Amino acid sequence: MVRLDPARPLVICDADEVLLRFLAGLERFLERNGCYLDLTSFRIHGNVKYRATHEAVADETVTKLIGDFFASDTRYLEPVDGAAAALKNLSNHAQIVILSNLPESSRDARIENLVEHGMPYPVIAGKGPKGPVVKDLLGDFAQTVVFIDDLPPNLSSVATETPHVHRLHFIADPRLACLLPPAADAHRRIDDWPTAAEWIATVIA
Ligand SMILES: [Mg+2]
Repeated sequence: MVRLDPARPLVICDADEVLLRFLAGLERFLERNGCYLDLTSFRIHGNVKYRATHEAVADETVTKLIGDFFASDTRYLEPVDGAAAALKNLSNHAQIVILSNLPESSRDARIENLVEHGMPYPVIAGKGPKGPVVKDLLGDFAQTVVFIDDLPPNLSSVATETPHVHRLHFIADPRLACLLPPAADAHRRIDDWPTAAEWIATVIA
């Protein structure tokens, strides 16, 4: 359970495609398993194909592959450029919590991976829409809160449950970023950390 300091602003940050290069890691995993990702839309199911035949992998097999990927490769993802430096600077002015949808069994590997890359912050392993989790975490927390995520449904869920939270839409991988317009329920869309950090610093000032 994460304990908030009632006296400091809060930054709630997603990990995959915000702090960590999920897509690049998934592609390495798929390559080892005879598959590749053919990114024609912003989704994984339907876009994983067999290298040998270029045929789409069945949805239930993709679901299993993603589970295996989290189990074996969560520990080894690469950081997004500038993420660690930005959070370190922001941590002088705010507390940082990482809210990441991944299996609870992969939480320790995620923490070790983040620590290795200079991001030693508390991690909540969530699943499903993030709004209710943010609402629970905040309780009667009265300081400014910023929420950062790459997935529009998470931003919408937070907008619904906790409308006072400032919401930033951030997609690290440029191939994914160009597949998605700015989320309707975000206040801003920024895809690089130096610019994002500036915006967050202004919001929490
Ligand atoms: Mg993400």
